[in-house]
Amino acid sequence: MPTWTKSPPDDPRGQGLPLVRTPAARSLVAVVTSESLIGTDTHFWGGHTVPCERPDCDACHNGIAYRWHGYLSAYNPIDQLHFIFEMTANAASVFTEYQLTNKTLRCCRFEAYRWRRLKNGRVIIKCEHSNHPSHALPKAPDLQKVMAIIWRLPIPNVVVDGIERGAPKVWTHTGDDGQSSDPKLYDTPNP
Ligand SMILES: [Zn+2]
Repeated sequence: MPTWTKSPPDDPRGQGLPLVRTPAARSLVAVVTSESLIGTDTHFWGGHTVPCERPDCDACHNGIAYRWHGYLSAYNPIDQLHFIFEMTANAASVFTEYQLTNKTLRCCRFEAYRWRRLKNGRVIIKCEHSNHPSHALPKAPDLQKVMAIIWRLPIPNVVVDGIERGAPKVWTHTGDDGQSSDPKLYDTPNP
């Protein structure tokens, strides 16, 4: 006999959200749901973006350049998608300036697009305060946990398959340090 349930099971790792980057063909418009952004150095390694885990980092040991990426959660009211938005340090500075004035990023409406609609074009972000009421937005997820799920890292204080995992050691809070100077990597959109 199958055991039927009336809703899908909760993911024991927590809330999973899709990762979205600025597309080339059109603008991305959304409202931030997190209070602030988080960021860390990353590598483009093995065909995708992975966090740098210095001092014991395979990508660093193989001479792969690193660059900082920032992450925040955002909601698109039109298609009702709650997602994680990935940005470069340049793009992140627009959000940090907004936060200085407005204390929080939550309810910041932003438009992100690429210069000349080029696939590797620099990302340009415009921020403004949204009239979307905060209570009508989804609750902000735990960004570190969501990123740990996306990157398949051990999640702090979350029991996975009955095993208490250690905390990931990859998080930094700097905005500008550690930028890659390798131009090939600098504007590589990570698939
Ligand atoms: Zn590394």
